Amino acid sequence: MPFMQIQELGRDRQYGIKGSVTNVPNDLHKSVDCLPRNVNDSATIYVKLKKRLSFKSHFMYQCVNPNRVYNAALYLMNKPLYQSQNVNINLEWLEKFRTESFPEGSNAFADLNPISSEENDESDIDDDDYDDPFVNPAPAETAINKLNTNIDAGLALAPGGPGQEPHLAPTYAAVNALCILRCEEAFNVINRPKLLRFLFSLKKRDGSFRMHEGSESDIRGVYCALSVAMLTSIWSQELTMNTGHWVSRCQTYEGGFGGVPDMEAHGGYTFCGLASLVLLKEGKLINIHRLLRWLANRQTRYEGGFQGRTNKLVDSCYSFWQGGSFPLIHRLLNKSDPDSMDMLNWLFDQRALQEYLILSCQAPHGGLIDKPGKPKDYYHTCYALSGLSVAQHFHNGTKGYDTLVVGHEENELVPTHPIYNICVPSAIQAIKHFHNLTYPGLPEDMQLWDSGDETDS
Ligand SMILES: [Zn+2]
Repeated sequence: MPFMQIQELGRDRQYGIKGSVTNVPNDLHKSVDCLPRNVNDSATIYVKLKKRLSFKSHFMYQCVNPNRVYNAALYLMNKPLYQSQNVNINLEWLEKFRTESFPEGSNAFADLNPISSEENDESDIDDDDYDDPFVNPAPAETAINKLNTNIDAGLALAPGGPGQEPHLAPTYAAVNALCILRCEEAFNVINRPKLLRFLFSLKKRDGSFRMHEGSESDIRGVYCALSVAMLTSIWSQELTMNTGHWVSRCQTYEGGFGGVPDMEAHGGYTFCGLASLVLLKEGKLINIHRLLRWLANRQTRYEGGFQGRTNKLVDSCYSFWQGGSFPLIHRLLNKSDPDSMDMLNWLFDQRALQEYLILSCQAPHGGLIDKPGKPKDYYHTCYALSGLSVAQHFHNGTKGYDTLVVGHEENELVPTHPIYNICVPSAIQAIKHFHNLTYPGLPEDMQLWDSGDETDS
């Protein structure tokens, strides 16, 4: 019996298969005998998640079976955590769903989800475009809000805004943003003693870093922590103890890096791992030839852009995650074998990448996109441009930059720093500024790694 997910393909009302088809051997008589199945047992409904109730569009949705959710909720309600928090289920709606009768042969989707045909037209499972203007969610609207956020824990830089829990990714973004501003006033915003305390609070004994208090650690945490520590000159041996070894364990048999040891190689994680080991001056821990072969094969032959993982589609953001790894590899290879290196080009097709980005990834009204058909967003705009800058500028050691600009000369961007991905003078000025300040030092009560570590590492 074949199982497949069928969806409308768009305005022309054709249907297509989404994802893979799975064939399951089964006993035909048994299956036929249990039919017809009551629609209430098998019907699914759409659940749409919105970032704000007032928004028109959802940012993701899935089909769920209410009976299953109900049974799961009943099970969870008997668990101590749910009981201590007095979690209750509203049974009214479910009863309505269960008792409502459906005419034979009816479409449960249509009956339960009266979607206007207009709305249906724009529903695309992968669509994450917003009609609504972007609004920073208030603390109360995000899951990670913690009322007793201890601001002392670190830089209060959280994904949604003030009042949320500090997290390494926005800390990295905020430190970079402040360094881009390149002025004393911006540098002084960063409280280095608190930032250092925050980094140590996320450090694990095995050398990895959690993204935020209580989370699992992964290679992004390492890169974000090392990047901000180096830029703001709060780097120390204690902070980076065991880290290089942990990162090297994330390199997979394919050659790229996964998020944690034994995970699939992925472009974003690969840049994080490679940049971390370069920062740590432990490039020798990398199997560089295997990494180079994996990276070079991620540039797609037809489109010219990069894919994030083996057998995936091209995506402009990997122009930086994969493309941006080549300058780092060049540096490592040049150290070990300077005579055999091409000193005019990176080891990927710079022209093909620029053509993909310029011709296929520009939204008509500005902004850059993942691939044709996708909506524009800040993330892809940032990393497509960063990759474009890498493809345009070959850094030739002491001689400076050789440029290769596809199209009009106005297409040329400023060179981006291969580790921090901000413009080079900003990175240099920030490092100089913070280098002149004294190392904040650790408070005496601070531990060298998170004490909650022993059980899960
Ligand atoms: Zn992407």
